[in-house]
Amino acid sequence: MLDRLKESLVKTRQQGFEKHEVALSSPQSRRIAIAGDGGDRNLINMCANNYLGLANHPEIIAAAKDGLDHFGFGMASVRFICGTQTLHKDLESRLSQYLGTDDTILYSSCFDANTGLFETILDEEDVILSDELNHASIIDGIRLTKASRIRYKHDDMTELEAALKGTNQHRSRLIVTDGVFSMDGTIANLAAICGLAQQYDAMVMVDDSHAVGVIGTRGRGTPALHNVGDKVDILTGTLGKALGGASGGYVSGRCEVISWLRQASRPYLFSNSVMPAICAASIKAIDLAESGDHLRENLHARGGQLRTALRELGFFVGGKDHPIVPIIVGEADRATALAEHLLQNGVLAVAFAYPVVPKGAARVRMQVSASHSAADIESVLAVLASFRR
Ligand SMILES: *Cc1c(COP(=O)(O)O)cnc(C)c1O
Repeated sequence: MLDRLKESLVKTRQQGFEKHEVALSSPQSRRIAIAGDGGDRNLINMCANNYLGLANHPEIIAAAKDGLDHFGFGMASVRFICGTQTLHKDLESRLSQYLGTDDTILYSSCFDANTGLFETILDEEDVILSDELNHASIIDGIRLTKASRIRYKHDDMTELEAALKGTNQHRSRLIVTDGVFSMDGTIANLAAICGLAQQYDAMVMVDDSHAVGVIGTRGRGTPALHNVGDKVDILTGTLGKALGGASGGYVSGRCEVISWLRQASRPYLFSNSVMPAICAASIKAIDLAESGDHLRENLHARGGQLRTALRELGFFVGGKDHPIVPIIVGEADRATALAEHLLQNGVLAVAFAYPVVPKGAARVRMQVSASHSAADIESVLAVLASFRR
């Protein structure tokens, strides 16, 4: 096995797909320091999921310290044994209130939430209809169920409708989609999806990890943006992106679903409680996100600034109305060259190639944050213009 793994590593390196970790010597921020041989280098950070710039907000740090002082460091228990504090209940209610749902259950991550969801509520009598570009954690979660599954072409409502027409012999049908697709920065057409769900008596599950805090009224996400909050049955999301960026995830939605997950969802039953300090800080993060219209205003203005100027420079830019701004360059080596040029000139962004994105659609993905200034974006654009030349 070890020889085989060594071979795989060599092959990955030869194909140019090897991933490297850059070690930050600073907190997560719009500007970060990277530890290097000649001392720390300062870079503009264009690849964090820190959409609202809350990862190091002083009020969140204070709330985390307060949580640590009053509720301790660790729980050393799963939720249903002795791992539930009032703080966990408070965070769950706060999320339900923010999202406008019946109830919420916390997980250690959204990855866990997605792997603990489908197998708990569906079996071989049911069917899942899933967008082909859904997140890896949804794909893995679906693999764990005995339910039938149909992948529909990304955002193709005609294919989705055909799949609904062909599956009415099944007991329950669940349409499953990302709210925002992370490689493209596109937003799911929830108005159409919920319309079809209603017409064909299916349920809807949305993973809103890249949307919560970011889009929709008060940052309530994709359902709010499309005005279908009451038609989405199940929402999953992360605390590891806009909402402070530490860790933790949730499933939120119909009370029957959430109550049953507390009885039977394996990552909930067999994995440790979320750290108290994270719960305390996440409640503060939700407060700041909910009252953060000024943050979202700057976030979307900076996203628009970057997208418009990139198009003027002649780049092919994907996405719309979301701070994920993918610069699509074609072949993998060009994406790598662009990311390298950015790094040499003080900007951190990551290149993605096949199999993460389709062949011939390699890209450098930029992610704007509310903490970026117009001048930060101008600096990034100057580097991109020099690459173009
Ligand atoms: C980031 C992400 C996740 C994983 O969230 P974690 O809390 O980091 O596990 C799941 N789904 C989607 C759509 C994501 O973007």
